[in-house]
Amino acid sequence: MTGSTGSLSGRHALVTGGGRGIGAAIARRLLADGASVTLLGRDAGALQATVQALREVAPAGAVVSFVTADIADADSVARAFAAAAEQSGPVSMLINNAGQAHSAPFLKTNAALWQRMLDVNLTGTFLCTQAALPAMLDAGWGRIVNVASTAGLIGYGYVSGYCAAKHGVIGLTRALALETAAKGVTVNAVCPGYTETDIVRDAVANIVGKTGRTETEARAELAARNPQRRLVQPEEVADAVAWLCQPSAAAITGQAIPVAGGEVMAG
Ligand code: NAP
Repeated sequence: MTGSTGSLSGRHALVTGGGRGIGAAIARRLLADGASVTLLGRDAGALQATVQALREVAPAGAVVSFVTADIADADSVARAFAAAAEQSGPVSMLINNAGQAHSAPFLKTNAALWQRMLDVNLTGTFLCTQAALPAMLDAGWGRIVNVASTAGLIGYGYVSGYCAAKHGVIGLTRALALETAAKGVTVNAVCPGYTETDIVRDAVANIVGKTGRTETEARAELAARNPQRRLVQPEEVADAVAWLCQPSAAAITGQAIPVAGGEVMAG
């Protein structure tokens, strides 16, 4: 088998939450650029199905595999990263994409919901980054891309825990970018607006259930926040992530880039 010749060939990307939605689109895109890709998630069945689909389009020499972990659990993360490195070599690109968005008015946000939003979205990013960074520093090359959200840049009602966690992810991105700036490792965030995945499907179901609006009206309401009057597609987020992973993006670090049709304009 000959090696792949894409711009990321010979490199190993680990995509958390790679079994579906935005993560699966990112995995497909990095694979197309020649990287070997490991998907990480909790649902082995979904991960296996996505791995099968990706193997059908994988360039020669690019390895596609998966590991299971709950990113909020330090031991589980450590085991998964060790297994990933054993399968496909040291991780040189980490895409912290796994996340959960649960909504509730602030006064109905109990401590358990608050903690879960912080654990999965923020601590999960911290734990995976701690697991991956040492090998990047050893190699003198690495890319960390955190899939945050426009909710990491501006406020939204009824998702205070999620919003606080995603703001935290952007703070972590900026701080770590400075620590690694002279070491060949870039750290950036992409911030999608409402994107067509299960998260939006659940948000639509929630609006329908709570307000009596139709599904079409609920979707239109979410899309209307985007000046382009549409939902972002997972592939558009994946393209931004893949760009930040390129060797040619070495000068870009510490950025939080909205992929949101103009909904948020970073100052
Ligand atoms: P999704 O379709 O619901 O996928 C979420 C992924 O995260 C799944 O693959 C899930 O895998 C994984 N995950 C969740 N909790 C996990 C945990 N504790 N440990 C390991 N993996 C976990 O959502 P998506 O829309 O693609 O979201 C991807 C990222 O984009 C999230 O960080 C989300 O906050 C962000 N985002 C989404 C939107 C949007 O509108 N869709 C907008 C802005 C930002 P398992 O079920 O296998 O664990």
